[in-house]
Parts: sequence; C-alpha cells; structure tokens
Amino acid sequence: MTTVRTRIAPSPTGDPHVGTAYIALFNLCFARQHGGQFILRIEDTDQLRSTRESEQQIYDALRWLGIEWDEGPDVGGPHGPYRQSERGEIYKKYSDELVAKGHAFPCFCSAERLDQVRAEQMANKETPRYDGHCMNISAETSQQRIAAGESHVIRMKVPSEGVCQVNDMLRGTVEIGWDRMDMQVLMKADGLPTYFLANVVDDHLMGITHVLRGEEWLPSAPKLIKLYEYFGWEQPQLCYMPLLRNPDKSKLSKRKNPTSVTFYERMGFMPEAMLNYLGRMGWSIPDEREKFTLAEMIEHFDINRVSLGGPIFDVEKLSWLNGQWLRELPVEQFAAEVQKWAFNPEYMMKIAPHVQQRVETFSQIAPLAGFFFSGALNLDPALFEHKKLDGTQVRQVLQLTLWKLEALRQWDKERITECIQAVGGHLELKLRDVMPLMFASITGQASSVSVLDAMEIIGPDLTRFRLRQALELLGGASKKEVKEWEKLFAAMG
Ligand code: GLU
Repeated sequence: MTTVRTRIAPSPTGDPHVGTAYIALFNLCFARQHGGQFILRIEDTDQLRSTRESEQQIYDALRWLGIEWDEGPDVGGPHGPYRQSERGEIYKKYSDELVAKGHAFPCFCSAERLDQVRAEQMANKETPRYDGHCMNISAETSQQRIAAGESHVIRMKVPSEGVCQVNDMLRGTVEIGWDRMDMQVLMKADGLPTYFLANVVDDHLMGITHVLRGEEWLPSAPKLIKLYEYFGWEQPQLCYMPLLRNPDKSKLSKRKNPTSVTFYERMGFMPEAMLNYLGRMGWSIPDEREKFTLAEMIEHFDINRVSLGGPIFDVEKLSWLNGQWLRELPVEQFAAEVQKWAFNPEYMMKIAPHVQQRVETFSQIAPLAGFFFSGALNLDPALFEHKKLDGTQVRQVLQLTLWKLEALRQWDKERITECIQAVGGHLELKLRDVMPLMFASITGQASSVSVLDAMEIIGPDLTRFRLRQALELLGGASKKEVKEWEKLFAAMG
C-alpha cells in the first residue's frame, strides 16, 4: 500500500492565518492517523506579495501551535526544493510538455485586447472567458514569435461543454460545468507558473496522496483534474474542508475577527487550547467532549466526522475553552506558562529601557506600563476628546491609520512613524495633533512611555487590535464613511 502523504501549501503573503493552521491540523491528523507523512510546501510564485518574513511567521505560528512537518523548506527532505520559487526549471519543463502534447498553447494577447473581449462578453451577458484567439496559431509561427521575444503566457485548453465530476471525500461526486472554466493561464509572461500548474506538478512530484484544502478551491477543481489527466498522472484524493466563518456566518475575515495566529499568542491564549479549538471546527471527537489534546485527536481522527455546515470561529468560545485549559494546569505550570508568555527576560528587556528613567520605585512600573501585558484596554472616551479635531475627524484618523498599519509588512518604529505621518500629512494635520490619539488607543492613559516604541514592542497584532477597539468605542465607521475614507486612503498611495 502506498504511504499516505498530505501537505499544507501556504502562500507567504501576509500574517499567518488561523485558516492555514486549521487546514494544517486536519492534514496532519489525517496523515498521522494513517501512519503517513505531512509536508509543508511554500507557494511563493507571486513574487510581489510573497516575503521571507511571512514565510518565517508561518513556521513560527505552526510550531507554536505544536504542528510539526516531516518535510519542508526549513527541514529538508527527499522531494525538495519545497519552495516553489526554487523550482522554476521544473515547471518550465512540464509546461513545455503540455504545449508539445497540444494540451496548452502560447497566448500573445495584450491586456488591452483581453479587456476588450471581456467588456464585450459582459455587455452580451456572457460569462467572461478567454475567446481562444491564439489557440490556432501554428506551432511554427508561435515558435518564431517567441524566439523574436514577443511577450506571451501559456494557457491550458479546457473542454467547451459537458461536466467535470469532482470526487470529494466529504461531498461525494460534485458536478461542475466546463462552460464555467476559463482557459487558465499556466505560465505567466514573467516565466513563473500560476497556482494551477505549480500545485499539480508539485503534488505529483512530492507524492501527495490526499489533498485536504479549503472549500474556496472547489470551483476550480476541474482545472486541476484536467491537468492530471493531461499529464497522465494519478490524481490524489480530494477533500474540500468547510470554511471558517465569523459568528455572523460570513467568511472569517480580519475586519470582523482577528485572524492572525500571532494575535492569539500575544493575547495569551494557550497553543494547546487554540489547537483544540481548531480541531472542533466542523469536527468532533467520538465521545463529543470539548477538551482534547492533539494526540487524542490523532488517535480518534476520522475524516467522515467532518460536517459541512460552516464552522464558526468564535473568540468567546475559544476564550472559554482556553479558560478550561489553563485552570486545569498544575499551579506551578500555570505560573511557568505566564512567565514564558510575557514575563520573560526577553520581553522585559524590550520594556525596561523605556520605564527605567520614568520610575522611582519598581512598584510604579505596573501602573505605568501595564498595557504591555494586556490585551483589550479599558478605554475612557474622554481620552479622545481633542482640542482641534471633532469626533468624525478623530474616527477618520484612527481608521486611516489602522488601514495603513494593516498594510505594513515590516514592523519597526521608523516605518510605523512613516505610516502615521503619511495619514497626518494627507489630512493636513500635524503629528502633534495625531499622536495623542495613538497614545490614548495604545496605552489607554494620558501619559506613559513613548507610544511609537510601545507600538513597536507590543507588535502589529495588538497595535491594530487596540486601534480598532478605540475606533469601535467611538462609534466605528458607517458604511458611507468607509466608502469615502477608502477613496481618501487609495489616494494616499
Ligand atoms: N497556495 C494555496 C493557498 O495559499 C494552496 C491551496 C491548496 O492547498 O491547494 O491556499
């Protein structure tokens, strides 16, 4: 029997998402339960958005949770490299093979032409899709145009009619019409593969037997299935996991709920509780108990117990479960865990330089710097009364700063300052008018240590969380304001 091999294939383009951890957990359990292997592959073919920092954060977040992989970019393995950006030659070879077999073709259409076709199709109420313009260019002509350096992509051919049967481990057979599939680009003009080609080639070469991925990928399954067929490869078993949702049932999004694993770490959740909660997303252990360990989950794992109703990621329920976990710790271990969380020498050394000159006794530290060890703050609206700005302007500054900081990838004092300056400058405000609002949101006090240093130290997750908290305390932003401010924000560049 072949060994079961599963994988998680995150794109390192942002904060490590709880959805990534959730899918990783189920892939891990499935592999372990079958005595198989679990692989981590980094899908970083989007050069503009992928960063090494984000990749590192994925490793750190998964390891913090207790998720380990058998093969991956950082641990190596026999099927490497495990980072797609290092596999360029491989994709080129397979894309050439598809063209040679007549399953794919070079497409020279300009963006303008594609836009025009699209506009016409939309006007005729047709589904916008590639019209096949370059499909019948002879191989010889194509070769000449490519040799002459003409910019092109490689597209796959797809049937124009009929249905594709997708066999999903949870749903059974799902039929998706080919008329809904576009002639997908497989290789971009920059010579890099798209998700579709790279994903199929890698899952095959890495010997992946079961693919458990989020259900947002189900509509594109026919293209992957077709590619396996074109290559003549055996297709792995597919399993489309239900998406995590906000308590209002919408797709889990950071506008409504913090979605970064690191946020939960900073808030002082226990990794065991977090993993336990993710394990309860659409799944239950046979005796239905709420609290279980990873080892217990693996022991009792059964993919058929996954239910398709959208699992709700509810921070309050997670907090409740976390409470169960930490109250059951032996008190010595509880004390040790708290120390490890934030009362550790490393974190203390970040804070010490900022408090030392401001106190006369150690006992003054907690009142001055307690916000370094807190999650949500008890904010007093009076702190946001501003000499110059009215209530709307105050909310606007908070919202624009929040958006600006959400887009910030490298988190240090200098870059944070630049963001705040950019917002101030755009609204024609002085830094000294904007700073008191930052101060109030982040420290919850009228005076404390330097707020820019504080923002750097508490990190992006808590900084954004507190700005959001302040904004909500003051009434949030109406739909109309969000629209207006989004325009303003876009104009900031
Ligand atoms: N790179 C894709 C993602 O970021 C992988 C999806 C899949 O598992 O195929 O989610």
